[in-house]
Amino acid sequence: SLQRGYGVVVEPVKWNDIGGLEPVKRQLRQAVEWPVLYKDTFSRLGLKAPRGILLYGPPGCSKTTLVKAIATNSGASFLSVNGAALYSSFVGDSEKTIRETFHQARLSAPSIIFFDEIDTIVGKRNFSAGGGGDGGGDSVQERVLSTMLNEMDGVENASGVLIVAATNRVDLIDKALLRPGRFDRVVYVPPPDLEARRQILSIYTRDIPLAEDVDLDALAQTTEMFTGADLQNLCREAALIALRSRVLGPMAKMQIKVEGADENKPSTDPVNEE
Ligand code: ATP
Repeated sequence: SLQRGYGVVVEPVKWNDIGGLEPVKRQLRQAVEWPVLYKDTFSRLGLKAPRGILLYGPPGCSKTTLVKAIATNSGASFLSVNGAALYSSFVGDSEKTIRETFHQARLSAPSIIFFDEIDTIVGKRNFSAGGGGDGGGDSVQERVLSTMLNEMDGVENASGVLIVAATNRVDLIDKALLRPGRFDRVVYVPPPDLEARRQILSIYTRDIPLAEDVDLDALAQTTEMFTGADLQNLCREAALIALRSRVLGPMAKMQIKVEGADENKPSTDPVNEE
């Protein structure tokens, strides 16, 4: 298990459970694995392991899954901070939660702190929204931001603590977070291209007998606007339909149909975004 002392258990994700994104995977492995594998070379050359990695890109394109792959493959303990939970009344003192998370991360190093949807934690919209009586200088979010900056600056170089964050809205991220020694790698996670869609479809159908007329190449062509999550959904729906007819009648193999499957509308479809 990945759990070592404090942290959350991550469902293990292998790099080839993620379709496409070869350059992104390579970049992440270099940033995370090389400083460990080539520790001596790094210190001889005065190279520093990145302190923080910010992943950005459209929803449903595997940012969270990539972080799980990093955690799985590095064997690091994993601590996750989510915006909605951080500001809920159950948690109470948000700054204290941040401080404690960093504290625990140091104790359980090598470790990864993951800030999911970081724009909801320290995004600009929080500073202007709901404004009015705030006085502008001391909102909870501003205090959380300065706590985070302090904590990130306090992480020592060889401490084995890596901070990873994900966002769909990189434009909302406070620039102070992007300075050297903070999120010093910013990585774009794009929607899947043709080859990635083909790989994703074969990942999610690899254990399932396919009907003779299922052509994953053709399917990859007709799913231009689909995200990885959409493709996963499409395969899941098709598997359910196959299962249903298997239960009710003779053996059915999986058919995948893009048209007519209303639930499987691509989420990046510009029409849907209106
Ligand atoms: P959000 O911004 O909404 O949190 P995200 O970019 O973090 O989205 P994930 O949560 O990682 O996306 O992905 C959603 C689902 O889609 C996951 O179950 C994931 O396995 C699947 N998925 C997305 N992209 C891929 C891919 N390239 N290969 C395999 N599965 C993928």
